[in-house]
Amino acid sequence: MHDKTITELSQLLENKETSSQEITQSFLERMRIIDPHLNAFITINEDYALQAALDADKRRKDGNAQKLTGIPIAHKDIFCTRGVKTSCGSHMLDNFISPYDATVTKRCKDAGMVLLGKTNMDEFAMGSSNENSFYGYVHNPWNPELVPGGSSGGSAAAVAASLTPIATGTDTGGSIRQPAAFCGITGLKPTYGRVSRFGMVAFASSLDQGGPLSKTAADAALLMNVIAGFDPQDSTSVDTSVPDYTATLNDSLQGLRIGIPKEFFSDGLDPEIATAIQVAAKELEKLGASLHDISLPNTELSVPAYYIIAPAECSSNLARYDGVRYGYRCEEPKNLDDLYKRSRSEAFGDEVKRRIMIGTYALSAGYYDAYYLKAQKVRRLISQEYQNALQQVDVILGPTTPTTSFALGSKTDDPISMYLNDIYTIAVNLAGLPAISVPAGFAQKLPIGMQLIANHFQEAKLLNIAHQYQQVTDWHKRQPEMNHQG
Ligand code: GLN
Repeated sequence: MHDKTITELSQLLENKETSSQEITQSFLERMRIIDPHLNAFITINEDYALQAALDADKRRKDGNAQKLTGIPIAHKDIFCTRGVKTSCGSHMLDNFISPYDATVTKRCKDAGMVLLGKTNMDEFAMGSSNENSFYGYVHNPWNPELVPGGSSGGSAAAVAASLTPIATGTDTGGSIRQPAAFCGITGLKPTYGRVSRFGMVAFASSLDQGGPLSKTAADAALLMNVIAGFDPQDSTSVDTSVPDYTATLNDSLQGLRIGIPKEFFSDGLDPEIATAIQVAAKELEKLGASLHDISLPNTELSVPAYYIIAPAECSSNLARYDGVRYGYRCEEPKNLDDLYKRSRSEAFGDEVKRRIMIGTYALSAGYYDAYYLKAQKVRRLISQEYQNALQQVDVILGPTTPTTSFALGSKTDDPISMYLNDIYTIAVNLAGLPAISVPAGFAQKLPIGMQLIANHFQEAKLLNIAHQYQQVTDWHKRQPEMNHQG
């Protein structure tokens, strides 16, 4: 049961060959046995899940089921879930029970999906390895001594280890695609504005975007059908029509123009990944696509620009955690200043504090022009560069990450080397584009991710290409050793 895709599970439910209760029980049992080794979940809510499964089965019996009614899901603990703790991986929100649902969680609930639990993540989604969580490290199912990637590491590990058939994540600079790559699964970062940010705890509001982490592109398409679309509660949500993402999965790739940027194959890239991506490109060529060399000369600038803009926005967004309204409050504050200071210094972790300090500095009167304004100009240049490239080709192809997963603890003392992990993913957020990571090989028994980037609102095209690729390859079907036990 646990190795099935949601496409298969929904078919089984439709054929009445199983029930949501049976599926949900089987995942909960597996979580009980395996999660203690992975730490992928912050909250597991068995009673809540079983009740939702019961409701879903009733709904199906009454003939009111939708495609995903009764399918289990796990949400990254950044999405507010009414009545269930939403910690955002932080001590600050360890006591926070949201009084409302995020639009993403509400839409999944309305579709009859069953919430298994909330997944572990880097504190406030800041990180590339899931080592910044207040709730401890998440382990990579392919090798428990390695990181699962971040910040949606819990979601990626949970899907890879089949603790849930699908999960949500958020991607501010790569946090859906990079953990998907490290854990050998599929991860889609939608266009900025495609999926509502309402009720998604804010990190860097001009970059944050939620999306699916799944076993296949077809599964991601099914979840996108539920979560995508205009939301009047998010002022940056875009009011354009949403296609049926499953309708074009089988379109032919004949005539598709794929651009391969030379900057994505520079020195820092693991040669085994470079080879795997070239082989994958050839595979797409066999399916009718043509390959074109392109250039994105400002790629190098994306990391420094992002690491000014994201901290600037985070320093402003996180000002709301003051010990007064909700979240952590220090014991016996002496006065208001002491309350602010101690609540914040006791409850935020090191990486979050580092970002708040960098961001506050970059936004301060004396340095605004030199840092923040400059970074915004670079952001515009990068955006322009992608638009130019996407005039010449339909999609851009490259690796998702410069290396495969790395050892827990190996980069925690060196933030710069940690930040450099995001070199291939960050520009996409700066430009607001959609991008997908799909499994495309292995290096030393660790999964490799291939990234495809398209123009705004062309998620369907990305899912189509990824699905066609998954019809002729089986990388996405390989599973970590631990999945073969029990
Ligand atoms: N690794 C990046 C960071 O630490 C991106 C995180 C994300 O996408 N949430 O900010």
